[in-house]
Amino acid sequence: MKLIDTHTHLYLPEFDADRDEMVERAISSGVVKLLMPNIDIKSVDPMLSAAERYEGICHPMIGLHPTSVREDYLSQLDELERIATYYTFIAVGDIGIDLYWNTTFLKEQKITFRKQVEFSIRTGLPIVIHSRLSFPEVFSVLDEFSGENLKGVFHAFSGDLNDAIKATAYGFKLGIGGPLTFKNSGLDKVVKEIGLKHIILETDSPYLAPVPFRGKRNESSYICIINQKLAEVLGSSEEEVAAATFENSCRLFNV
Ligand SMILES: [Zn+2]
Repeated sequence: MKLIDTHTHLYLPEFDADRDEMVERAISSGVVKLLMPNIDIKSVDPMLSAAERYEGICHPMIGLHPTSVREDYLSQLDELERIATYYTFIAVGDIGIDLYWNTTFLKEQKITFRKQVEFSIRTGLPIVIHSRLSFPEVFSVLDEFSGENLKGVFHAFSGDLNDAIKATAYGFKLGIGGPLTFKNSGLDKVVKEIGLKHIILETDSPYLAPVPFRGKRNESSYICIINQKLAEVLGSSEEEVAAATFENSCRLFNV
């Protein structure tokens, strides 16, 4: 069984003590690719070092995370675009709008998101959307690009069935991770309606660890737990879920 963790921040300090072992555990669990979304200027160097150390396994993305949008967002965006001309990135992420942590920079978050969607269109890269309490705002930016053939994923999807229907109608995948194993997440009903065709797997490690590790550090080998849970929810075999989500991920990220 081959799996892909489409969202891991494995370059963060949380893994400094045992990063090699953690990647080894993921590989022995059948995880063949680990896709790394960027956060901001500061995370680029550690992310690129991980990409170099685990070449062919860990692939970097470029983007400015909505929770890192501050007064200096325009210069950060310029710098990130400059970096993108020197290295190969598989996607533009994390990008989007987050109204959970802070709403001070909503206007700047929208501009940042819009500029990065434009960048993805210029470069032909998929986008990895971080949307928290912000589905209407995110969709309203995406609406500006109708007809542009956008592709990407709503990572750590946390919306309801209507949001899921809208996201998949745009052609976006839903990134499903640890929250599927949480009681009352409501995600089981959403994935049952939406179906495997639109789903890819992710851990979002070190965050959002699945049950029974909820609240602890998450890691890519736990993608097996998510795969197992999704199979249980859908009444399919683990092999079937792994094969379909693997195929979806390869197609989306061109890996
Ligand atoms: Zn992320």
